[in-house]
Amino acid sequence: MMGFGEEGSTVPEEPCQCPDCLRFYREHDRLIRENPSLRQQQELNWAALQAFRTLAGRVLEDLQKVPDAATPGQELPAEDESLQQALADLENVNAHLFSIEVLMERIFDVRVPEAVELKFKELAGELAPDPLNADRLRLNRLLHQTPDLS
Ligand SMILES: [Zn+2]
Repeated sequence: MMGFGEEGSTVPEEPCQCPDCLRFYREHDRLIRENPSLRQQQELNWAALQAFRTLAGRVLEDLQKVPDAATPGQELPAEDESLQQALADLENVNAHLFSIEVLMERIFDVRVPEAVELKFKELAGELAPDPLNADRLRLNRLLHQTPDLS
């Protein structure tokens, strides 16, 4: 029973805490923390896109291969409807990845001065502070000890 017996009105804007979302927040913050400059984000995203394209492209190529008569039993049944659907889906994925690559190339041509890279690093530290950073743990403790002024 939603809301029944709950204490007051809880903040509705609270971010979702389901396991999928929690994993996403963690991964999102980690990618900022470990790649806190424009250059690093460019390299990271380019590598991720290329890895995706390489693997998906190779799988598609392999599945589309004309079955080799010399190795019967190796090939998947080509008449299988779900396989045909998967091939069509993968072709779409690859087409989209190619489009994204064309768009990304523009972003990745950009170079910024060192001062701007430093700004990236500064804000990355604010957006995704190291959860195990000693200063942060100490600060959190201090904030929670602050007496209520009301
Ligand atoms: Zn969620």
